[in-house]
Amino acid sequence: DAKRGGDNHYRYFTEELNRRAAERLRLEERLRVGLAEDRIQTWFQPKVDFQTGEVVGVEALVRWQDPEWGWITPDRFIPVAESVGLIDVVTERVIRACGQLHQRFQRACLSPIAFAINLSPRLFQRPDITRTLLHWFQEYQLPPERVFLEITESLLVDDEVLAGKVLHELRRNGISISLDDFGTGYSNLSYLRSIPVDELKIDKLFMGELTREVGNAAIVNSIIALGHNLGMRVVAEGVETEAQVRYLRARGCDLLQGYHFSPAVPADGLLEMRLENQVMATGSGQTDERRP
Ligand code: C2E
Ligand code: MG
Ligand code: MG
Ligand code: MG
Repeated sequence: DAKRGGDNHYRYFTEELNRRAAERLRLEERLRVGLAEDRIQTWFQPKVDFQTGEVVGVEALVRWQDPEWGWITPDRFIPVAESVGLIDVVTERVIRACGQLHQRFQRACLSPIAFAINLSPRLFQRPDITRTLLHWFQEYQLPPERVFLEITESLLVDDEVLAGKVLHELRRNGISISLDDFGTGYSNLSYLRSIPVDELKIDKLFMGELTREVGNAAIVNSIIALGHNLGMRVVAEGVETEAQVRYLRARGCDLLQGYHFSPAVPADGLLEMRLENQVMATGSGQTDERRP
């Protein structure tokens, strides 16, 4: 009896939707508690210039460890934060952490480095985004000249002209723009002519075995050439092996980031790393994030 089957089907979907909604709600509640208890932390992953072995910048990556639920990855909670209007608070915390680390470098007489901050498309859509960001940078004493905002192509789909205006405005205020996860978005590249971009980040999806996988190698070579021809700096993310380092070096990729050098570590770890003046060029061979 088809009708009965249809009912079951319907009931199944309703239950599934309810279950998901309930799960989101629980995550939202947990996130509010986590923010109130200051459990949302920021860790930092070095971006390395392998010519000199120097850490020239860090990417700020948000981390959340719940006392009951354990580690919750950003891929799971950022979308929830975006949909319930908590992404501004999360981003403000990240900027605060960057400001604090910037000042610790200063106090330790270390040269200033760049801070890459991931900017959610949701946040970018705020009409007062430039003012808000500049306000936070001032409040937490992070000079805009040290900031790279990591954006994705998805931010350009709604209104490319408006997005371009905002990005120009941010840049006029000293902020640099980095195009994250490059190569995984849209194949239409025409926006690169009008959107100001300082840096292309090749997505880790293409790292694979560069020396063996012809497809990945061709894409990586092309992105490096494209970026350089447009006057941009090119960064590879997800660099895990010595072979990848050698390959990317030979192709003139400017900066490298990945577990081969270091995973994201707490601020203390990064300060230590810079104080010890570790020679990063050879890499530590670490492959695990410091989390389960
Ligand atoms: P993303 O911006 O592309 O960040 C790179 C991700 O790759 C990070 O994952 C990083 O830990 C991971 N990764 C770094 N090196 C390697 C490597 O050698 N191999 C592999 N397999 N992975 C590597 P994470 O921290 O889990 O972040 C995931 C995504 O969550 C980020 O992707 C970013 O889109 C988002 N995210 C993280 N922090 C923030 C934030 O503060 N705000 C916003 N809006 N999004 C954030
Ligand atoms: Mg990023
Ligand atoms: Mg990325
Ligand atoms: Mg990514």
